[in-house]
Amino acid sequence: MSVTELPPKSGAEANENAPCFVYSFKDGDGKNKKLLGGKGANLCEMTQIGINVPPGFVISTQACLDYLDSESKELPDALIDQVHKQIEALEQETGKGFGDPDNMLLLSVRSGSALSMPGMMDTILNLGLNSKTLPGLIAQTGNERFAWDAYRRFIQLFGKVAMGIADAEFDKPFDAMKKRLGVKLDIELSAENLKEISELYLEVVHSETGRPFPEDVFEQLKLAIKAVFNSWLGKRAVDYRREFNITPDMANGTAVNVQTMVFGNMGDDCATGVGFTRNPGTGENVMFGEYLINAQGEDVVAGIRTPHPVHELAKDMPQMYKELVALRDRLEEHYHEVQDYEYTIEKGVLYCLQTRNGKMNATARVRTSLEMANEGLISRDEALLRIDPEELDQLLHPRLDPDSRELPVAQGLPASPGAASGSIVFDADRAELARDDGQKVILVREETKPEDIHGFFAAQGVLTSRGGKTSHAAVVARGMGKPCVAGAEGIEVDVEHRIAHVGDTVLHEGDVITIDGGNGNVYLGEIETVPPVFSDELRTLLRWSDEIADLKIMSNADTIEAATLASDYGAMGIGLCRTERMFNAQDRLPLVIDMILAQSREDRVEALEHLRPIQRGDFKDLFKVMSPRPVTIRLLDPPIHEFLPSERQLEQEIDHLKRLRETVCGVDDLMGSMQLIRRKSDLKDLPKPFGPGGLELVDSAIAKKQQMLIKVRELFEVNPMLGHRGVRLGITYPEIYEMQIRAIMEAAAECRREGFDVHPDIMLPQVCTLKELLWVHNIVDKVEGEVEAEYNTDVNYRFGSMIEVVRACMRAGRLAENAEFFSFGTNDLTQSSFSFSREDAENKFLPLYEENDILQDNPFETLDVKGVGRLMQIAVEWGRKTRPELKVGICGEQGGHPESIRFCHHIGLDYVSCSAPRVPIARLAAAQAKLLEKEYEAEL
Ligand code: ADP
Ligand code: MG
Ligand code: MG
Repeated sequence: MSVTELPPKSGAEANENAPCFVYSFKDGDGKNKKLLGGKGANLCEMTQIGINVPPGFVISTQACLDYLDSESKELPDALIDQVHKQIEALEQETGKGFGDPDNMLLLSVRSGSALSMPGMMDTILNLGLNSKTLPGLIAQTGNERFAWDAYRRFIQLFGKVAMGIADAEFDKPFDAMKKRLGVKLDIELSAENLKEISELYLEVVHSETGRPFPEDVFEQLKLAIKAVFNSWLGKRAVDYRREFNITPDMANGTAVNVQTMVFGNMGDDCATGVGFTRNPGTGENVMFGEYLINAQGEDVVAGIRTPHPVHELAKDMPQMYKELVALRDRLEEHYHEVQDYEYTIEKGVLYCLQTRNGKMNATARVRTSLEMANEGLISRDEALLRIDPEELDQLLHPRLDPDSRELPVAQGLPASPGAASGSIVFDADRAELARDDGQKVILVREETKPEDIHGFFAAQGVLTSRGGKTSHAAVVARGMGKPCVAGAEGIEVDVEHRIAHVGDTVLHEGDVITIDGGNGNVYLGEIETVPPVFSDELRTLLRWSDEIADLKIMSNADTIEAATLASDYGAMGIGLCRTERMFNAQDRLPLVIDMILAQSREDRVEALEHLRPIQRGDFKDLFKVMSPRPVTIRLLDPPIHEFLPSERQLEQEIDHLKRLRETVCGVDDLMGSMQLIRRKSDLKDLPKPFGPGGLELVDSAIAKKQQMLIKVRELFEVNPMLGHRGVRLGITYPEIYEMQIRAIMEAAAECRREGFDVHPDIMLPQVCTLKELLWVHNIVDKVEGEVEAEYNTDVNYRFGSMIEVVRACMRAGRLAENAEFFSFGTNDLTQSSFSFSREDAENKFLPLYEENDILQDNPFETLDVKGVGRLMQIAVEWGRKTRPELKVGICGEQGGHPESIRFCHHIGLDYVSCSAPRVPIARLAAAQAKLLEKEYEAEL
């Protein structure tokens, strides 16, 4: 399990043939984090570029792995030899002696693997102290209290880390002593007290391990090294690696850093601190960090004393502050990255103890990328590669106030990011009423259906107790950029009674809740949210992205709101407008139903004539918002029965209406009887629950519903996904497509007349053969002629095809004869490639498939590059053979994911269309796809 090819270094030429296990900071390879661990590699690197690091050496991760593999669990002789050599070198360099009572060398022993793993092992400080060297430390520092304090800390830490003694064993005598003396704080203890406690601690070690505390300093060192090695397989470390999916490929074994101690606690000319080279919260290019005078490193983190902000150091120690600024500049200049560093000042000398790349939030990451590029510290390419596109999501949605400490009452799936608060409503109609009343509401349902769409518009966010990340609620909410938590199974929604149960709590309509679609949490009451910021810095970075990328980013948008957002976020056009979403709006649905119920072509045409101006208006709005960018309109796709209620629902409604009819008749009878009971003059004051004509109204409602029921039964399909939909619908009911095509062209013509430069793209869904395209193209040509004549203007449109049927991929060469563009509908293409119906797959077997690695990912979320992707690649190739200038894009949901975008770039697509809120993410991902193309090819 060799980690490295490095030849043995000189300076450690212990056993002629033994591998090199140990590297001085002066010559370890600072780039080899796998071998030396992140901390060790950086200590080497800093030493070699002239930063003042306390001298020391690194024992490699390879040594750790060899040790852990060995039967004996003894350190190999070669390693011990090499350590001895390194200690000798340290003694020479520092002029001190390891274990020398008169001038002792003290060491810190620190762990560090290739990836930073918090909590892997505690650092041992002051190694080398024993009863003989302690007087030396007292004499050297002239500070008896300090020396004893160091000693008792060392015994405890060493006892715990290297000998496995529980902290509690040390705390017992310590607390007893403090109690006896009546003191609360450690600093109140005298040298005498600390001496006594040290002696008690030595006894603890003896009684707990049956051995005396090791006096031999080399013995101490060997035990410490073994303890670090063993910590790699300790429970904390193993759990951490499992939790964060850290594979041996990423980090294997821990290195051990042995370093000369420096003291920040030897007086008021000493200090210790931690710093960031820039502000990790805002990204601002300023000194950032905290320090403590007369303290040891851990004290800053431990929070026993309150540290001071770093700029106060300028007053406290002006010279040191200057040096610290220089250190920070040097670190950034060398690493070209924001650094998170630790330092100690010992008697006026500044030492750097550690540096690593700084972690920061998305705001800071964006700002530092831009500023470091502008400062010339990194290139523009590097600035773009430094940001994880998904991270941008944090910036594009409202977030919960990060200071809130509220605990969630339930958790579901993070289905659409962002946070929102509002009063609960249990149905879409009420959501609308409440919104019109000026209320903020959260729509809470078991699950949602297409007819709930107006509720989505009205609500701040959506919460469902059933369904996954690809449920209707999730997909629609994502498309709109509204927060959604889906499948929160801990909540029992009872829509009928308008209540929901969460554990023992009962929620009523009107109660306020908060949802966080970024993590799936649900909270009771209102939690403040922080609005999103689309900063100037982000705008600039995305402009750079666009300059680099080959792929254009378009947006899926059906509404003016989505189109406006898309435009704001820099979409280059609309890649998919689903016209059926427009049909679902409340003012159109009755017309759509009339159209469906029509008995004859004439009736249908008449109903469609009412719809046409409405659609025209929709299209005009979209064209204007996007002008001069293209708008791709997909003609009606779903089977028309989707606009009707289900058979069961209709049967129920008819049943109710029939009962109502009887009641209404009863009321009529009552009115008649009244005249016999009361005098005429009293009659006008009586309530009239159902006025004249009530019966007719109910009768016509019954007739309508019965008509709908007959139609629903007539339209029933065994498998609607493979049924009467898309272009098939357009061919069987040409008047529907003709209406839509006319609406598009008239909208375009009118926009032109008003001076807008508009580019409609007409797109056919579900195409599998050229003949289908030709059939509809004929209608398009006819309508074009008529509209152009009527408006006396050109309608510049393009005609293209969705590619979402396997056969279409195989016939791409032929389809391209008639289609000017292709757009991959990867949702359907995935369904048809796998023969999985999505909802069934995701509810029934896909989770198990993923768990058992039968499929690596859910192909509806992550584009299946190997199968579906291959089909796409073939279709692009054959399509372009027929028509080299063929525009090809993708409009499936996966289009917004960076991994899919890499693939789309790789196979030479022209554009990617994703939901509006993901446009910025996709823009950055497109640039990265271009920049990382070589690596991607190697990966494939
Ligand atoms: P962590 O991974 O928890 O940051 P470190 O190895 O950095 O652990 O050690 C923790 C602390 O121990 C450091 O912040 C520093 O204050 C102190 N420390 C480590 N090495 C030395 C040293 N050579 N001299 C003085 N203090 C040290
Ligand atoms: Mg540590
Ligand atoms: Mg540290």
